[in-house]
Amino acid sequence: MSGLTRELGTLRCKAGLHPQVVASGCALCNWERALQLAVDAIAVAHPGIDAQVACAAVIRSASTTPNRGVIARYLAAHPLALVSGESGAPGPVRRLIGELRA
Ligand SMILES: [Zn+2]
Repeated sequence: MSGLTRELGTLRCKAGLHPQVVASGCALCNWERALQLAVDAIAVAHPGIDAQVACAAVIRSASTTPNRGVIARYLAAHPLALVSGESGAPGPVRRLIGELRA
């Protein structure tokens, strides 16, 4: 019997990527999905920004799933936020603007 198929009996999340630690969804998958949504929002608002640069900037400016959600939602509603530097933007977005200008 192959040990690879049993994974020592460890349950995996639905995506099969992470050990399942909670019953309601996989926090790591949500965390990565929130990162992707934020990077996608940057790509839509500013196609000229390199995806890897955007990804690194999101990681540095928003370490949590909720903060990444804030960036994705705010950029969807305010596509020019990264250009105008909107002073009224939420904290994670202001940090993102700072990262992209660095
Ligand atoms: Zn997962």
